[in-house]
Amino acid sequence: MEFKKSQELYNKGLVNLVGGVNSPVRAFASVGGNPLFIKKAKGSKITDVDGNSYVDLVLSYGPMILGHRHKKVQKAITKALKNGYSFGASTKNEIKLAKIVCDAFPGMDKVRFVNSGTEAVLSGIRLARAFTGKDKIIKFSGCYHGHQDALLVAAGSGLATLSLPGSKGVPEGAVKNTLIANYNDLESVKAHFEAHDDIAGVILEPVAGNMGVVTPQNDFLKELKKYLESKGALLIVDEVMTGFRSKFGGAQELFDVEADITCLGKVIGGGFPVGAYGARNEIMEMVAPLGGMYQAGTLSGNPIAMAGGIATLTELKKQNPYEKFNEIAQIIEVFLLESAKKYDVEITVNRFGSMINPFFTNKTVTNFEDAQTSDTKKFATFFWAMMHNGVFLPPSQFEAWFLSSALSEKDIQKIAKAIDKSMEAVSKM
Ligand code: PMP
Repeated sequence: MEFKKSQELYNKGLVNLVGGVNSPVRAFASVGGNPLFIKKAKGSKITDVDGNSYVDLVLSYGPMILGHRHKKVQKAITKALKNGYSFGASTKNEIKLAKIVCDAFPGMDKVRFVNSGTEAVLSGIRLARAFTGKDKIIKFSGCYHGHQDALLVAAGSGLATLSLPGSKGVPEGAVKNTLIANYNDLESVKAHFEAHDDIAGVILEPVAGNMGVVTPQNDFLKELKKYLESKGALLIVDEVMTGFRSKFGGAQELFDVEADITCLGKVIGGGFPVGAYGARNEIMEMVAPLGGMYQAGTLSGNPIAMAGGIATLTELKKQNPYEKFNEIAQIIEVFLLESAKKYDVEITVNRFGSMINPFFTNKTVTNFEDAQTSDTKKFATFFWAMMHNGVFLPPSQFEAWFLSSALSEKDIQKIAKAIDKSMEAVSKM
């Protein structure tokens, strides 16, 4: 397999693009080697500029849940394009998408569309503060909520407990109201409430996908919600990744937990830049123009993105692929575990619905500290072997692999073969 044209483009890109990319993970920094440049994608497959075709388990980090260029989505956006691309005024489709989204989440009477997951979360945090009149927010180590200053707090334990900024350019003042707790550890949340009386709420990924896949254990979400209610604090559920992916009503439906504020992104735009935050009426009525919390967007509710979102969610509801996702993820888990056994490689596999990934560790992984015990060098070897065997994975140990409903039996066999070869490569390191 050759990556000559990707390499040429990467070298050209380095001149005017930072690191040759527009989002850091795309630079393949943690697996070494040059990043891929993509030419096109269709269904379950993605093709790079050198003509190499891969079964795509990145899926634009989640949005392409139906696979690429689903014909109904393509048709809807082509139709929308004919009427214009942006108006700065309202359209009927915004109401239609809002209804689909609000109907899926019982705790959501109203929704506001924005342009990314980052915007959805930063608005959701502002809303929690506006509603409670309190400033502090608890986040969990290893959960990623976009690149807003307040939540860009280092996720490693030492730095995390000190609440030091995780990025240059983030002033200490911007994170002084951010408290860090350990995922799956309610006691670490309680400790903050015992020390502070100005906590607006807790934000979390209901199933974490940004430290690899880490699932909530033993009613963690329910217990957390109950505790927050007793404290008058809000539960802000970041379903940017899990919304419409774990289940049509997101992880909240699966775990039977209702968020006070829900943040969405990825799938709801079907590949176009869309995010959203929503809540029950009394909370959403804080938002301008109804209330005093300001939030706005020139391109928000963009007509092409709305058309893409409506078509994607309508088709998703019809297909209802969630059971099938579970089955495929289980099959992939078995492939991973069996080949690891065959080649004597230590792994732990975590999965939830259409999200799955292996950690190269013998530890059970229930939080970020556990996830960090994974041997990332082994992951890098595994990643490149998967690429050479025709499977495109996220180029980081700490990202989930995503499934699309376009995966065929043949694709699954290809993934199985690639796993076998890649595990063998890891065993030879
Ligand atoms: N929240 C979660 C849970 C995410 O996974 C992401 C992106 N991976 C974001 C927020 C930020 O979304 P975006 O990249 O669209 O700004």
